[in-house]
Amino acid sequence: MQNQSERLQSLVEINRQLSRAANTTEYLNGILVAAADLTDSDGAAILEYDEQAALLRFLALAGLDQKALEALETVSVPLEGSVAGTAFASAKPLIVQDVRKIKYHFKNADEVSGFETHSILAVPITFHGQVLGVFEVINKSGPDYTGDDATILEVLCVQAAVAIQNVRLQRLLTQTREDAERLNRMKSDFIAITSHELRTPLGLILGHSTFLREVIDEEHHAQMDTIIRNAMRLKEIIENMTNADNAQSGTALVRRRSVSLKKLIQELMTTFVEDAKQKNIALNTDLGDNDDLMVEGDTEKIGIAISNLIKNAIAFTNEKGHIFVVAERVPGYVKVSVIDDGIGIPPESLSHIFERFYQVESHLTRKHGGMGLGLSVTKMMVEMHGGRIWAESMVGKGSNFTMLLPLDSSQAEALGKVFTA
Ligand code: ADP
Repeated sequence: MQNQSERLQSLVEINRQLSRAANTTEYLNGILVAAADLTDSDGAAILEYDEQAALLRFLALAGLDQKALEALETVSVPLEGSVAGTAFASAKPLIVQDVRKIKYHFKNADEVSGFETHSILAVPITFHGQVLGVFEVINKSGPDYTGDDATILEVLCVQAAVAIQNVRLQRLLTQTREDAERLNRMKSDFIAITSHELRTPLGLILGHSTFLREVIDEEHHAQMDTIIRNAMRLKEIIENMTNADNAQSGTALVRRRSVSLKKLIQELMTTFVEDAKQKNIALNTDLGDNDDLMVEGDTEKIGIAISNLIKNAIAFTNEKGHIFVVAERVPGYVKVSVIDDGIGIPPESLSHIFERFYQVESHLTRKHGGMGLGLSVTKMMVEMHGGRIWAESMVGKGSNFTMLLPLDSSQAEALGKVFTA
């Protein structure tokens, strides 16, 4: 048996070892073995208080065989009629030298585990004035449990409190993660069902109004155009929502083909000519001369990514402004930039604009439509191809959005390393 100063030295050494524990289980085990060793006990247990059930449950045990350990995991210890419960309720250490002499020994634990308890020292584990559980050592070999044993266990209770807090935080983290995943699945289902249900009537509105526009008098064309434009806008919102969700949930597939970015950009530009003209914005391209700017990728997804940038450039550039879409080959990539001399983005917002639902202006006061999804969709589409996107901007001067699309996205990772090295 160690004397008091040897025990103190052992405690310091145990503390050192505990700080190297790889995980909470190892940490708890270290405390239990130390407690049993330093108090000359056969076994040790940490019981955690379950607030909802108002019971104590075994969190960790040492000195018992595997079968006994497993059996005790299912046992809950009542606050009344147990040594641990009595120490918990009084928030004071309790020594029982012979359990046969007391009425409140909880025999059930012994019956279940096959372990025979003779003596117990139980110390409450407290943290910030709250009792979290009880630390017990069982069956002192040799003389009776002493006040010194209780002091040793009280010191180890500090570590036990930290361990219980850790276990609780881990449980909370797992629970929160599961809740978040469940909510995310519900949201994805909601988006999938709603967009599916909206698409059919919207398709009919668009189909019939496009047909009607051809047959009605010219004097009503403007009204019909408004209907078609707004239906198209609704379609776009639905597509953006679906795209954002598919990309985020990982259900989006990249259908790889050879894509000429030059051709794709030229086609996209034709769809924006009218919008640019309405705001008197000069919309130009610089796509080089003798290069089709081929990449391996999904035409539709790259198209969505570039369209969102051009759409934003038009939305956030004042009348008589200028927009340039520039594409060129750089080592391993095609670089596409959409440059405008519009309102620009404040520096504090620049790092947030690719987040979902982020908008620089509050949605209550903003002049522009949109849901703050466009750039997040664009970023996801680019990243699905192993590419990268970033923005540079100055308020009042304009913005420059640049994306790098790998020539061969299956090689993107290796190229990325070279590029960033
Ligand atoms: P939204 O569809 O609502 O415009 P985005 O994700 O496409 O959402 O863009 C997020 C925000 O970034 C916009 O609301 C806008 O404030 C800012 N933004 C995006 N592109 C530009 C740009 N070219 N110039 C200025 N601000 C921009």
